Amino acid sequence: MTNIAFIGLGNMGGPMAANLVKAGHTVTGFDLSPASCDQARNDGASIAASTVDAVKDADIVVTMLPAGKHVLSVWADILPSVKDGALLIDCSTVDVESARKAHVMAREQERDLASLDAPVSGGVGGAKGATLTFMAGGARQAFDRAEPILSKMGKKVVHCGEAGAGQAAKICNNMILGISMIGVAEAFVLAEKLGLSHQALFDVASTSSGQCWSLTTYCPVPGPVPASPANNGYKPGFAAALMLKDLKLAQEAALTSGASTPLGAEAAQLYALFNNAGHEGDDFSGIINFIRGQRA
Ligand code: NAD
Repeated sequence: MTNIAFIGLGNMGGPMAANLVKAGHTVTGFDLSPASCDQARNDGASIAASTVDAVKDADIVVTMLPAGKHVLSVWADILPSVKDGALLIDCSTVDVESARKAHVMAREQERDLASLDAPVSGGVGGAKGATLTFMAGGARQAFDRAEPILSKMGKKVVHCGEAGAGQAAKICNNMILGISMIGVAEAFVLAEKLGLSHQALFDVASTSSGQCWSLTTYCPVPGPVPASPANNGYKPGFAAALMLKDLKLAQEAALTSGASTPLGAEAAQLYALFNNAGHEGDDFSGIINFIRGQRA
């Protein structure tokens, strides 16, 4: 049993903290939203009066917050109050620069603190079902300490490298996802114009070189994959707003690192248009309707 502080009990953090309670850990949580705190209390966590109160007895601190600025501000508040030798794990999706800065802030305390960036893939369903994939960046010893805890919230935990490598893996993966979803959507829209049925394209491409997750798990047209959001009015799933966030993070990283990512840039632009047209809350696979409308 480990004393764990969990800060950020939203759509992802709430069920992740609940899984740590289920695994027998003592979880002390904090969130700015009273409703999230109530839910976490119902799930068996104690709720602290502040971030600082939440962390003071914790061996491990997990943060699951909206963006880099929230993580840096919360870490700046809590670092002076965490126990010597504590391990801090940020599971939020943030820019690589902020992730690296958080590691430096922890090291600068000179109190033997360990830190990891460990963003996740798998969405709210994965958070609830403890089937997330964690991609971690930081020292090997920090990873070895974190692994037994992370594995209570996920089914796969990968050490990607040094500080920031987890966030780098996350945005590279999600750039593939955004681009591939647009590719699959365009193929279905072209098939419609050519008089080819959705099922026929699916049957061929899902067993041919066009095969990918966006097609076989998250098929953007209703029918071929019954569990995909297309069969449920494009309810998320993975919201278009979050896809846009991740594509923008990939573009920021491409700019600062000098990488050429022309399709990533195009995908970010298309998702920005889709979001601005009022589809932030739709599943990201709904972009097929936008593409169909634009080309009609
Ligand atoms: P969310 O908005 O539901 O939860 C974030 C929580 O952080 C909120 O409850 C908010 O009140 C809390 N918060 C903000 N500032 C705080 C502070 N200073 N102190 C305490 N609490 C604070 O978001 P989410 O969907 O849970 O996502 C969290 C992170 O996980 C994001 O970085 C997101 O990109 C990433 N992510 C989300 C998904 C998904 O499908 N939702 C999938 C993968 C990764």
